[in-house]
Amino acid sequence: MTNITEKTSPPLSYAKSSFPNPWATYLAQVDRVTPYLKSLARWVETLKHPKRTMIVDVPIEMDDGIVRHFEGFRVQHNLSRGPGKGGLRFHPQVTLEETMALAAWMTIKTAAMDLPFGGAKGGIRVDPFALSDNELEKITRRYTSEISIIIGPQKDIPAPDVNTNAQVMAWIMDTYSMQVGFTASGVVTGKPLHLGGSLGRVKATGRGVFVTGREAASRMGLSLEGARVCVQGFGNVGSSAAELFVLNGAKVVALQDQWGTVIDEAGIDVPALMMSAPSRKGIGGSPDLNDAFWNTPCDILILAALESQLTAERARRTTAKLVLEGANGPTLPDADDVLADRNILVVPDVICNAGGVTVSYFEWVQDFSSFFWSENEINSRLDTLMVEAFRKIWACADFNKVSLRTAAYIVACERILAAREARGLYP
Ligand code: NAD
Repeated sequence: MTNITEKTSPPLSYAKSSFPNPWATYLAQVDRVTPYLKSLARWVETLKHPKRTMIVDVPIEMDDGIVRHFEGFRVQHNLSRGPGKGGLRFHPQVTLEETMALAAWMTIKTAAMDLPFGGAKGGIRVDPFALSDNELEKITRRYTSEISIIIGPQKDIPAPDVNTNAQVMAWIMDTYSMQVGFTASGVVTGKPLHLGGSLGRVKATGRGVFVTGREAASRMGLSLEGARVCVQGFGNVGSSAAELFVLNGAKVVALQDQWGTVIDEAGIDVPALMMSAPSRKGIGGSPDLNDAFWNTPCDILILAALESQLTAERARRTTAKLVLEGANGPTLPDADDVLADRNILVVPDVICNAGGVTVSYFEWVQDFSSFFWSENEINSRLDTLMVEAFRKIWACADFNKVSLRTAAYIVACERILAAREARGLYP
């Protein structure tokens, strides 16, 4: 029997994160769309209440022998249209309210894309960069074990999000499979290829940001050739979106990650940075340039870091004509109003970053049928579904004279609430 010392790390707190409350942002977005929902509006309260929230204690023995306790969350926001779908985030500022908002945005996103899923999200409040690989594996496995009663291929299917990756998904899949007694590939998406992962998944979210950006730019008459692009966040989403814009003739003039900012009006060598700057080390930018990032002259601003980054003050400063929300909830509601007043087009998160969940859907389908598609087939099906969803939302925005965000919510909420109405209230 070891002499166990226990510590809570970081301190237990269900308080709000240091960001403006993303759940309040989501509720404000639902309020904006309610007048357009006609008779379905009588079910709108259902969108304001997560169906199920789970807070779990995740104790692990650290490499130094001390047992530390971490807080974990899994929220299933709405399951009217199918099993829950949504990523798992490791971050020191994860809170229950943030996870609720992220789960709700997944409900809207899967419906906006017409995928047969509901919305869910998970998180552990931890700084993964302070953990060894051994500790990271333990925290992932214990968390999975704690939430295993509510996840499953037909119930709720996690995927990667901020600071989680294919390896983390492999540990989740293995832990869950051990508990149920068979290999359950379909319990997570974003897995390594040799475990039933899908080709094209790693770069799918960035590809979707590019596809929706390309569609929006062509409708605005904005050529991608020579367009100046600023990108906040150079992880999975930001780097793959930046890479595709560069491949299509655009120039990335500013990049920002959590450690600093790089600005180069001649154009940053994105492929070289992707090779040389594995995400743990960052882009090598200067924190002194962080504020200047927001006034760097550009045509397109890609937000691919975290929520609540684009404040009204920053929205007044940007010179972008088009804002692409690769991240979830990066624009505050009052910043949205500033952008609308300034005629700056925003492609909202619920469609812009839906490429990831769409290829996750392809992965889930491939796992069920044990028949795997080629990368070309995946990229081309992704392009088709995203263009189709974008067209429908654009037409809805035109018809109702509303923003793309409100239009995406109208399309999505109609689908969710029609399903809700048809299923009825149990008992
Ligand atoms: P990631 O961990 O791979 O990258 C996050 C990037 O953001 C890193 O470069 C990090 O340094 C930077 N960052 C973090 N905090 C920052 C700050 N305060 N200022 C500037 N930069 C900061 O994460 P990701 O998977 O690329 O996710 C990014 C966003 O996209 C998140 O909002 C996530 O929810 C959303 N998203 C991700 C996926 C996916 O498939 N990975 C799908 C849909 C949406």
